[in-house]
Amino acid sequence: MRVIVTGGAGFIGSHLCEAYMTAGHECICVDNLITGRLSNIAHLIGQPGFSFRQHNICDPLFVDGVIDLILHFSSPASPSDYLAHPIATLKVGSLGTYNALGLAKSKNSRFILASTSEVYGDPDVHPQTEDYWGNVNPVGPRSCYDEAKRFAEAITMAYHRSLDVNTGIVRIFNTYGPRMRLNDGRVLPALMGQVLRNEPMTVFGDGSQTRSFCYVTDLVDGIMRLAASEEHFPVNIGNPSELTILEFAKEIGSLELDYKQGIIMQPLPEDDPKRRRPDITLARTILGWEPKVVRREGLRQTLDYFKSELGL
Ligand code: UDP
Repeated sequence: MRVIVTGGAGFIGSHLCEAYMTAGHECICVDNLITGRLSNIAHLIGQPGFSFRQHNICDPLFVDGVIDLILHFSSPASPSDYLAHPIATLKVGSLGTYNALGLAKSKNSRFILASTSEVYGDPDVHPQTEDYWGNVNPVGPRSCYDEAKRFAEAITMAYHRSLDVNTGIVRIFNTYGPRMRLNDGRVLPALMGQVLRNEPMTVFGDGSQTRSFCYVTDLVDGIMRLAASEEHFPVNIGNPSELTILEFAKEIGSLELDYKQGIIMQPLPEDDPKRRRPDITLARTILGWEPKVVRREGLRQTLDYFKSELGL
């Protein structure tokens, strides 16, 4: 296949490029490098079948030849990134998705939209199933991301329903692993950076809010299965193993035996979801997918990556 990955120099996008290249496909990586990094794809540049185009998908993209699959993964995704780039986030979710869908239509490609558990907002239903419509504040600080992704889902379904484009939607829950940016502001890089610099760990609020963390290789496996399927409706991909952020901080602190700093509490950001856990019955049933990497092993791999980033 010839595959386009928008956001291909980002955390998840670069793992997708690598996985499709490893499986023997050609890959065109498109990224404007706002939050993506060339270092994420340095090992792929120069490999036969791989190409990189620095391009903002908010502008139309023209590509020669056959395109079998478009994975639309460009968007700032960490709260501090999208709060720093709210308009770019809204534009890539709307104009960027429109352009990527237009390309899929012209090339007759399978199209996969990277959506998010944020479409559920601060959920009233727990765990979150795909048929839950969500509880999103449309004018809160997180709305630039949540509503951009909800619009992206809506336009994707409209292209499917009215133009018969072969679309699919993956709702991605918290994901971690190598190639996250140490300073992206998300909880895992923040805490690991603090552990490696021997600083106290920052937990927001009382730490009782929960998340469920999926290792990136498990996520990529789920996305590849969805891309190979004929499913058009959203599918949750995430690891249902849920824990509080306070428990998570303690687990990360325990990875380094000589780490003795404590935890300091900081104010909870506005509209921070209280609970989040995917119901993955649908992915299990239609994709035969199941996460495999146990958290402690995934955390070790990620900590080793950050150590090498810091030259430790
Ligand atoms: N968080 C924290 N300390 C930090 C960064 C984040 O306690 O240094 C909390 C944040 O308030 C949220 C959770 O960790 O409750 C996950 O935050 P993240 O930014 O990783 O992503 P989210 O799941 O909110 O999109």
